[in-house]
Amino acid sequence: MKKKEYEFKPTNTKKSVVIIGFGPSGIFAAYYLSKSGVKVTVIERGEKIEDRTQSVRKFFEKGSLNFNSNISFGEGGAGTFSDGKLTSRSKDPRLYEVLKTLTEFGAPSEILHKKMPHVGTDILREIIIKMRKHLEDLGTKFYFSTKADDFVFKDGKLIKVFAGEKRI
Ligand SMILES: Cc1cc2nc3c(=O)[nH]c(=O)nc-3n(C[C@H](O)[C@H](O)[C@H](O)COP(=O)(O)OP(=O)(O)OC[C@H]3O[C@@H](n4cnc5c(N)ncnc54)[C@H](O)[C@@H]3O)c2cc1C
Repeated sequence: MKKKEYEFKPTNTKKSVVIIGFGPSGIFAAYYLSKSGVKVTVIERGEKIEDRTQSVRKFFEKGSLNFNSNISFGEGGAGTFSDGKLTSRSKDPRLYEVLKTLTEFGAPSEILHKKMPHVGTDILREIIIKMRKHLEDLGTKFYFSTKADDFVFKDGKLIKVFAGEKRI
């Protein structure tokens, strides 16, 4: 795997970003933006992993489906309840940075050199919880169980997100 080291320095930027969805794309966007000093707000239609796990369990045990928080939707995104294979079939040098970040939050260091890196569902969930808590410490604001359904733009900038009764 090609290695490239990246450095993220906090800046004095006044920029703020809203991220819709806290799957892998949202998690890493929030992480690198926050590290660079950008004010981040995350809106996720599903629940935090701790609660999402209960909703998924209820689905398998009783067949009751939470439409917003289930195997596909919720903190961690679509693959959270999979076996946690870290395959992207990509040779992008940024891949190493992603894997390195996962090791910083508890993934085994072997993922940095294995051909078929794998973390497993249980570890993956703990990593995501740690990343969320770290982001909260950096000032990221989270809205779980909040489905974005409309946007207001002014002069090309997003100024408001509608999510049911909420205005964010
Ligand atoms: C069952 C399953 C198993 C998988 N196993 C693996 C695997 O082992 N290894 C692997 O590499 N890949 C696996 N994948 C693929 C992997 O999960 C996806 O490539 C990855 O999740 C895509 O990340 P994403 O952040 O782009 O999207 P998603 O993970 O889909 O995240 C999008 C997030 O946005 C939220 N959202 C959607 N709409 C709204 C809205 N309107 N408002 C607020 N929030 C919203 C969703 O709840 C979700 O959490 C698996 C996928 C599935 C479905």
